[in-house]
Amino acid sequence: MGKLIEQDNNEGREESIEDLTSKVFKLIVEQGKEGILQSRLWKELNLTSRDGSRIAMRLEKRGLVTRQRVLENGRWTFRLIALRLPLDTTSIEGAPCVTCNLESMCTEDGSVSPNTCRLIENWVLIEMSKRMNDKKGSNTANTTTATTNIQIESV
Ligand code: SF4
Repeated sequence: MGKLIEQDNNEGREESIEDLTSKVFKLIVEQGKEGILQSRLWKELNLTSRDGSRIAMRLEKRGLVTRQRVLENGRWTFRLIALRLPLDTTSIEGAPCVTCNLESMCTEDGSVSPNTCRLIENWVLIEMSKRMNDKKGSNTANTTTATTNIQIESV
C-alpha cells in the first residue's frame, strides 16, 4: 500500500489511498447504471492498472461496485458499475463509508451501524451546513435569513 500512498500524479500532488478510492468511486457513480471501463477510469485519474485494480477490488469488497467482465476490442477487461447510486453525487468525495475499514461489518442493527456512527453523523452535518451556506449565499441581499450554527465535533 505504501507505493500507492506515496504516488505522485501529474499535478505533483501526493494522494492517499482514501482520496484516490473516493475519486474512483465518484467517477464510477457519475457514469450511472452504464458504469465505466476500468481502462478509461485509470486514464482519467492517471493511475497504473495495478493501483487502479487494487482500488476497484477494494470498492468491490466493500459492496460499493461490481466488476463485470466484458470483451472490449477483442480483449477481456472489466466494467465497473456502482451498486449504490446516490441521488446527488456532489458530496461523495467526503463520504466516510467509501473508505471506512469497518464497512464490511456495518449493518443497520449491528454493533457497527450507520444509526450510531459518528463519522456518518458528522459528514451529514457538514454537508447540511454547506448546503445551508450555499442557499444563504444565493438569497438576495435584502432578505433577512435566520443564522444556523452547526457545531461539528472532530472525529
Ligand atoms: S456508517 Fe460509519 S461505520 Fe458504517 S461504513 Fe459508514 S463510516 Fe463506516
